[in-house]
Amino acid sequence: MAITTDYHCHTDFSSDSSTPMEEMIKRALSLGMTHLCFTEHMDFDYPVNPKDGLTFSLDTLAYRNTFLTLKEKYKEQLTLLWGVELGIQPHLNQRLEEYTSSHPFDFIIASSHLLYGEDPYYPSFFETRNEDLVYEDYFKEITDNIKAFSSFDVYGHLDYIVRYGPNKDARYSYEKYRDIFDQLLIALIERGKGLEVNTGGLKYGLRQLHPITDILKRYRSLGGEIITIGSDAHQPQNLQHEFSLAQNVLLDCGFRYHTVFQNRTSQFIPL
Ligand SMILES: [Zn+2]
Ligand SMILES: [Zn+2]
Repeated sequence: MAITTDYHCHTDFSSDSSTPMEEMIKRALSLGMTHLCFTEHMDFDYPVNPKDGLTFSLDTLAYRNTFLTLKEKYKEQLTLLWGVELGIQPHLNQRLEEYTSSHPFDFIIASSHLLYGEDPYYPSFFETRNEDLVYEDYFKEITDNIKAFSSFDVYGHLDYIVRYGPNKDARYSYEKYRDIFDQLLIALIERGKGLEVNTGGLKYGLRQLHPITDILKRYRSLGGEIITIGSDAHQPQNLQHEFSLAQNVLLDCGFRYHTVFQNRTSQFIPL
C-alpha cells in the first residue's frame, strides 16, 4: 500500500522556507495524500548567524491562525495536522515543557540541531573538532534529552549530524556507537516514544535514510513500533521524497505499520 502521509514539512513560518502553506497543501493533493502534518521550526536560543540571519523562531499564533483557516478550507480533501519541530538543548527543558503545554499541537518532533550551542551546518563547526568525538557527543546528548524531556512524540532525524561531518557517513555505523545507540533506543521505547524516518538526508548525498537501517532494525528488535515518515520538505516538490524507498527499508527491518498522530495520539497504519 502506498504511503499517503507526510509528517515532516516546513513552510514560510519556518525561517529557512519561503513556501506558502497552501502551496504545500496543493502539492499534497496532487500526490493523493490523506494526511499532511506541518512541523515548523522552533529553536529557542538559536545562535543567529549574521550572514544569513536565520532565527528558527516561530510566530506560533500566526502559524495557528493560518493553519486553522486552511484546515477548514480543505477539510473535505485531506487531514491537516498542526505540528512543530522543537530544537532540543539540555538547558531548555523547562521552557520547552511550558511551550508545548501552552499550544494544542497534534504532533511534536524533538530534534537536535545544535551541539555545544553551535550549528554543525556551518563549516567552521568541524574545523577544530574531531568528527568521531562530535558524533559520539551528539548521540549521547540525544540520549540525555530523551531521559530528561518528555513533551514530544518522535525523535527527528536521529543522525542528522552526519550530514555535516567532513567524512559525512563514510566512517559512521551503528556498530561504532552501539552502546550509546542501545541506551538511546531503550530510553525511547521505555517512554513510549517513536523514531522518525526522515528522507531529507538523501538530498545531502547520504547513502541511507535518517536514521540508518541498522538503527531501525535495532529499534524493531528491542520492541520499538512507533515510526513516522517525513520528507523534511521545505519546498512543495520535495513532499514524500523517496517514500517508496523508506517503505521498503521499513518492511525489510520488520515493521508492518507506520504511525500518524492527531491530538498527540498515535494511530497505526499498515505499510
Ligand atoms: Zn530538523
Ligand atoms: Zn525539519
